[in-house]
Amino acid sequence: MNMSMGMRQEAVVIGGGFGGLASAMRLQGMGFNVTLLEMRDKVGGRANRWRAKGYTFDMGPSLITAPSIIEGAFRAVGSSLSAFVDLIPLDPFYRIHFHDGTWIDYSGDPERMKAQMAAFSRRDASRYDAFMDAIRPIYEAVLETGLGATPFHDWRVMARFLPTVMRLGAWRTATSFVNGYFRDFRHRFMFSFHPLYIGGNPFACPAVYLMIPYLERRQGVWYTRGGMYSVVEAMERAFRDAGGTVLTDHPATRIRVEAGRAVGVEARGRFFPAQAVVSNADLAHTYADLIEPRHRRKWTDGRIKRLEHTMGCFLLFLGVRKTFPFLKHHTLILSERYRELLTDIFSRKILPADFSLYLHAPAKTDGSMAPPGCESLMVLAPVANLDSGLDWEGAKNAFADRLLDFLEAWGLEGLRAHLEAFRIYTPLDFRADFNAVRGNAFGLVPTLSQTGWFRPHNRSEDIANLYFAGAGTHPGAGVPGVLLSAEAVEACVREDFPRIRESHPQRSAAAVP
Ligand SMILES: Cc1cc2nc3c(=O)[nH]c(=O)nc-3n(C[C@H](O)[C@H](O)[C@H](O)COP(=O)(O)OP(=O)(O)OC[C@H]3O[C@@H](n4cnc5c(N)ncnc54)[C@H](O)[C@@H]3O)c2cc1C
Repeated sequence: MNMSMGMRQEAVVIGGGFGGLASAMRLQGMGFNVTLLEMRDKVGGRANRWRAKGYTFDMGPSLITAPSIIEGAFRAVGSSLSAFVDLIPLDPFYRIHFHDGTWIDYSGDPERMKAQMAAFSRRDASRYDAFMDAIRPIYEAVLETGLGATPFHDWRVMARFLPTVMRLGAWRTATSFVNGYFRDFRHRFMFSFHPLYIGGNPFACPAVYLMIPYLERRQGVWYTRGGMYSVVEAMERAFRDAGGTVLTDHPATRIRVEAGRAVGVEARGRFFPAQAVVSNADLAHTYADLIEPRHRRKWTDGRIKRLEHTMGCFLLFLGVRKTFPFLKHHTLILSERYRELLTDIFSRKILPADFSLYLHAPAKTDGSMAPPGCESLMVLAPVANLDSGLDWEGAKNAFADRLLDFLEAWGLEGLRAHLEAFRIYTPLDFRADFNAVRGNAFGLVPTLSQTGWFRPHNRSEDIANLYFAGAGTHPGAGVPGVLLSAEAVEACVREDFPRIRESHPQRSAAAVP
């Protein structure tokens, strides 16, 4: 029996990334007393923030998509995102610069999109509507019929979804799906690259992830004043207001298991008893480092080693005493090589000579992110994860120099001469800061063999009352993905604790164990 009438149940969430915060809010809203243990000095996880010399940088996610999914976490504690932040729509969503000097302002407006596309290929422009019609049902299946938030711990859920996947062609690779509609290299890129946002190689991951471009078109791309971290702060506030407890500087060191059940978590020499434990830390770290092997029949060390982790990211943070008018809030700068560059990163795991980059320039929208007349730029170069064997400590300065040379030659003249704040962040930092075992920037690669039923489940198969939220579990990485994983965790916990709603649906004051 999981419930004892009259006493609130305790839940512990390990890790305060978006998935952990949302799980904490949802379980608190259900009636648990939730304690969130975060090893760092602040919550947010990969959605981290750095401030220096008047510049503010989001160090991880920067594009807000699917505000309705974020809203769901706030609703769970009787709150609302709009009580904390204002959402500002971005238009265009981003500017994409191609290697030949052409560019396109990518937006959700079909007529403007078609007009720009027609300059490159009239035929492709005439196919835009058909393509959107083809990916709409994928979006509907994942988001509107709730599959993204449905736990896939039962193969029958997968079996129910399979006929739809087959009918929509969503099992094909994202690029082969897109290439069936468009011929111009620009259009082939701009409608297929979105899986990269969640660590997937568009040439290898299934077209089911093409729900992302439809999601952007349907729900828009947004920004909040103060950057993405303002959403993290809002979630932490809403969770605390609902009676939840956040303990930072509390690395979990062990999940205690008795008679096959998780009974609590050890951190800083204390034991936090719990009826339900949710781990938002990377799955490989949770199983390998926090749970003794004798409790793991399925998730043995060998199985964990075989998991395929996503690529890494090399990040530069540049506080620049200058503005660059032709940069948009979000900008992509592309190399001529698409498939080959991704093969270098995902398969050969080598440092390529050319770059495809993402730049974030939030001061374009929000003057609070940099001093007047300045830019706070994040430059993201996708790179192989630590499986490459590269010594990033030795290589990072030279790589940063190459990037700065490239950006200055590309058009950001005087970048070096005007630098006021500067920071390099490599896959080694991801490993050290977040226990990302391979220095992976996201979670597990979203290939067919790591999707749906085949992805690690939201409920542990080895240990009762242990759940997983975050980028390494179903449905996957990206802020919307990890928020949906928290919804899936809530569904599992509701199944396992059927009486919790009846007992304590109301909010209560915090109770530190
Ligand atoms: C550079 C970059 C750019 C991105 N851009 C976007 C974007 O624009 N839009 C978008 O939607 N997504 C984006 N993403 C993806 C998105 O940020 C992530 O998928 C998401 O934030 C991951 O959330 P998570 O719930 O998996 O938790 P994580 O962020 O991985 O957090 C896990 C938390 O667990 C903590 N932890 C680990 N081990 C322990 C332990 N033993 N004890 C206690 N705590 C522990 C860590 O400190 C961390 O706080 C980006 C990611 C990166 C890296």
